[in-house]
Amino acid sequence: MQFSTNNPGYKIYAKVATALFRLYDTFFRPAFPPVVRIESTNICNASCTTCPRDQLTRKPGVMDFDLFQKIIDECAAHKTHRIHLHNFGEPLIDRELTKKISYAKDRGMKVRVFSNLSLLTEELAQGLVSSGLDDIKISFDGYTRETFENIRRRLKFEDVVHNIRLLIDTKNRMGSSTPKVGLTFVETPENSHEKELFLKEWKGMADNTIITKYHNWGGKVISHAQAKLIPCPRIWSTLTVLWNGDVALCCLDFDGSVILGNVRTQSIADIYQSDKINDIRNYHLTWQYSRIPICSDCSLRK
Ligand code: SF4
Ligand code: SF4
Repeated sequence: MQFSTNNPGYKIYAKVATALFRLYDTFFRPAFPPVVRIESTNICNASCTTCPRDQLTRKPGVMDFDLFQKIIDECAAHKTHRIHLHNFGEPLIDRELTKKISYAKDRGMKVRVFSNLSLLTEELAQGLVSSGLDDIKISFDGYTRETFENIRRRLKFEDVVHNIRLLIDTKNRMGSSTPKVGLTFVETPENSHEKELFLKEWKGMADNTIITKYHNWGGKVISHAQAKLIPCPRIWSTLTVLWNGDVALCCLDFDGSVILGNVRTQSIADIYQSDKINDIRNYHLTWQYSRIPICSDCSLRK
């Protein structure tokens, strides 16, 4: 539902919500981020209409294993157990993906991966199951081939359908309850009419199916959403490490427009408690969103 920021009821709601964020920031903010998001790679084989890849100026690359180990070791030392091993790219491109998942799982992490699944092979399916991966979210934005391929450009509908079934069959054959296989349908004006058919087709087969709203990538692509006043929980809940070790503001900051530090030379704990991120938190708590252009236009703020 869209609320107008001029609505008096909304203003009261936003003030109360902001006061709660202030309370959390002052008394309950942990010393370490509850979730660490790690970009295994920023390379992708697709070119989705919903994705601002054509605006990406960062160098393409894959995170090296040593850096990954450093991040996981620090997370384990701080008892942060939730790792998202994806950001702005297709994780299955990373040849060390299953080795990385196994390393994180051996240190007690819960690991999630988002993928377009177009690159899955039998060997990789077995590797993902054996690695102990907890859950995999597959972006699947259509019910018909035409709609899917119009949005998920460069991917083949039949290949992705085949690969979803391959992963589920492999998991069942290996007698494993993980990874949980989830299908995510990002609703846009182009595919909205197919969402019910999508749910009907996949509900019994996948472990979960969700419909999410399209967002505007921090104002980088057009959407119908309107930025609101309430602070964004992401600057407290998650730290996003890009493949080269830079820490970006959040998962929407795909081109690293706000870099908070680099985990090659700094610890995650220091970056999470730095003056730089605390200033940004303060701008959110005082509704000074224009101080951070990417947040100013972001449709994910409520
Ligand atoms: S698969 Fe993901 S990263 Fe790749 S183009 Fe599509 S939305 Fe962007
Ligand atoms: S408001 Fe948007 S751009 Fe800013 S931190 Fe939140 S999700 Fe990221």
